[in-house]
Amino acid sequence: MNCGPSMPGSVETSLQALYRDVDRIAGLLHSFHGDRLRCRKGCADCCIDGITVFEVEARYILKNCSRLFRTHPAHPPGACAFLDSEGSCRIYGFRPYVCRTQGLPLRWIDEDRRPSPVEMRDICPLNDPGPPIVELPSDACWSIGPFEARLAGLQREMSGGPMKRVLLRDLFEPDRAGRLSGGHPREQRKERS
Ligand code: SF4
Repeated sequence: MNCGPSMPGSVETSLQALYRDVDRIAGLLHSFHGDRLRCRKGCADCCIDGITVFEVEARYILKNCSRLFRTHPAHPPGACAFLDSEGSCRIYGFRPYVCRTQGLPLRWIDEDRRPSPVEMRDICPLNDPGPPIVELPSDACWSIGPFEARLAGLQREMSGGPMKRVLLRDLFEPDRAGRLSGGHPREQRKERS
């Protein structure tokens, strides 16, 4: 894993603003869809193993959740490393973008379709019962694209170019994450003791 520069304060501020915007829109969509959404504390079907995030989000988690890395191991393989034994997220306030829209009806444009791009839609199977998602107005779905572009911009601003992605599980691995954070929290503690 390449090191890259540390996270500038301006990038962190912009990332927090992005999360606020995501949470505001996702909150409106949650209200709009009301009882359709079965998302509840303890339901962790979306919290799969193997999720990756841009390095800028990985650094944000490492910076703000250092205590977790010092004191707790990763959730065993098979689910997200950040889940606790009761199916709750241990970094909820600092969770990455992708986790903030889980459960919502999603829409995106498949640019590779021929002869012309096609709009695609999807939703968690648990939340599928209800009006067909293909019939929902566009603004009743989470649009994949605009926030990904903002995130990519922050990644570029931080790293100067590389669009490196990081496995969430790797953040528990000092050997892999240390070069990201300028010293993994667990390693920093060893150095201090
Ligand atoms: S970071 Fe939290 S919300 Fe995101 S997949 Fe992992 S446990 Fe779930």
